Amino acid sequence: MKELFIEQQEELEYRGAHDAMIHSYARKAVEEYIEEGDTPCPNCHKVSLLRNESHAKCTECGQEFVYVDGGALRFM
Ligand SMILES: [Zn+2]
Repeated sequence: MKELFIEQQEELEYRGAHDAMIHSYARKAVEEYIEEGDTPCPNCHKVSLLRNESHAKCTECGQEFVYVDGGALRFM
């Protein structure tokens, strides 16, 4: 019984650390997004894209894209 309790505690601690890691990663990714500026969203055609080094997302429709060869946007 005591061992089971310890295992549960460890699992909870592990999950807490894992969540914190995900949250800090997500925050970092958001900070890296900048306004794309002049490319219309391939999904809703509004000029409302944010981009980072490899991905873009539309602030209007929420669609996310990945940059492929030559800077073309591909739906994710
Ligand atoms: Zn859009």
